Amino acid sequence: MRRVAIIGAGPSGLFAAGQLANQTEVEVAVDIFDRLPTPFGLLRYGVAPDHDSVKAVAKTLAAAFDSPRVRFFGLVEVGKQVQASELLQCYDAVIYAYGSELDRKLGIPGEAELDGSRSAREFVSWYSGHPDAIPQDLSGVRSAVVVGVGNVAVDVTRILLKDPDELSVTDMPDSVLAALRDTRVENVWLVGRRGPEVAAFTSIELRELLGLSGMDTELIGADLDAIDTDLLDRKAKANVEAIAKAISIKLPGAKRHLHLLFNHRPVAITGDGQVEAVEFESNLDGSRFEVPADLVLRSIGYYGVPLPGVPFSDGRILNLEGRVLDDDLSARPGEYVTGWIKRGPSGLIGANKKDSAETVANLVADLVEAPARQLGDPDELLTAKGITWSTLEDWRRIDGAEIDRGGLRGRARTKIEAWHELLDLVFAEQGASVS
Ligand SMILES: Cc1cc2nc3c(=O)[nH]c(=O)nc-3n(C[C@H](O)[C@H](O)[C@H](O)COP(=O)(O)OP(=O)(O)OC[C@H]3O[C@@H](n4cnc5c(N)ncnc54)[C@H](O)[C@@H]3O)c2cc1C
Repeated sequence: MRRVAIIGAGPSGLFAAGQLANQTEVEVAVDIFDRLPTPFGLLRYGVAPDHDSVKAVAKTLAAAFDSPRVRFFGLVEVGKQVQASELLQCYDAVIYAYGSELDRKLGIPGEAELDGSRSAREFVSWYSGHPDAIPQDLSGVRSAVVVGVGNVAVDVTRILLKDPDELSVTDMPDSVLAALRDTRVENVWLVGRRGPEVAAFTSIELRELLGLSGMDTELIGADLDAIDTDLLDRKAKANVEAIAKAISIKLPGAKRHLHLLFNHRPVAITGDGQVEAVEFESNLDGSRFEVPADLVLRSIGYYGVPLPGVPFSDGRILNLEGRVLDDDLSARPGEYVTGWIKRGPSGLIGANKKDSAETVANLVADLVEAPARQLGDPDELLTAKGITWSTLEDWRRIDGAEIDRGGLRGRARTKIEAWHELLDLVFAEQGASVS
């Protein structure tokens, strides 16, 4: 039996595990490592809590664990606790599937030093109940600026402007729902460098935002009448039409306001210790203006973190069709990559399925040809390094506890966000606790 390690239990890692378990060319056992005790990556900690149908993909992904030859090793951070080179001594092949965990910066004054200037990634992690997330106090926030016009920007804008009662049915942790109920956001500026006809958001996401109850929409910096919609693709045309419809609706007495600001970029965030305003410059005529703001969320893209000893270029692992390449562009035997860390941080969950299929097909083709090597024992390696890992059963205990917690509140699930609670559940069976 050949052995494959997958680093990262997000959608791409789980698709790859399922595909490896289901192929018949070579018999393989698969170990999936994640730094968290919970699988699903950004499906659990990125996809918006009010997007139930997307969240339901977890069931499909979890099918990878149905195979007795697939094991889960949670609480193992590769690159820190164990190196990729050490795993390569214990496995015929390693697949890097660890996603893109950092975010891009605007590089403008005030961004790094002022309280209230954050990445959308941090904000998403918080409302998704990621155990590493920093709690967000939104009680003083009346006006927010969201920089970027992709789907993540639309998600965070929607969470800021949506009636918290409508979010109470989701799996958001209690602490997050309480903070959102305490929030009185009245204005959100959603800002794009170019026009609405080239914005990255998809029409479904945009329409969902524009359709929020009790909110009106204003358009600044773009003239829809000047856009020839006949020249646009279907998505762009639908986006322009959705904006035209939203701004035509007058909602006297609306308590919340969405300001769509196009063809502008932020040039400075100002304030005395705390964000107080954002200055924008027009990309069309260079004119400037300022809006008051208590919170700035930059949503201009994610990028990956390199692993020690693994070739990296431009925010992702250097590869050709999933085979990891050395700096001289020769393939590195036994090393593969899939998902966002393979192709960069874009693409919906479904895109990772095709991506993993390509990687797995190449891995299997190589494995069939490769002579068997004398391998070390991964369990012994981890034990020798003093690593206490969590298992699939431990995740199932967390899963059960979240479902029970949700049941008490009349919801399908309530997320457990505190590390100590997750670890207590993990180590409950072992009678030990980890600080
Ligand atoms: C805010 C947001 C909202 C989104 N909404 C949608 C949506 O509505 N619909 C949709 O289809 N797609 C959505 N996406 C896209 C989707 O989440 C991605 O396509 C998908 O999650 C990428 O999968 P991945 O496995 O490559 O990475 P990830 O999902 O990031 O998984 C990576 C995994 O690796 C683990 N890991 C990281 N570093 C290490 C390490 N050193 N050692 C061990 N483990 C490690 C992480 O804990 C994580 O579990 C969204 C993305 C974001 C950011």
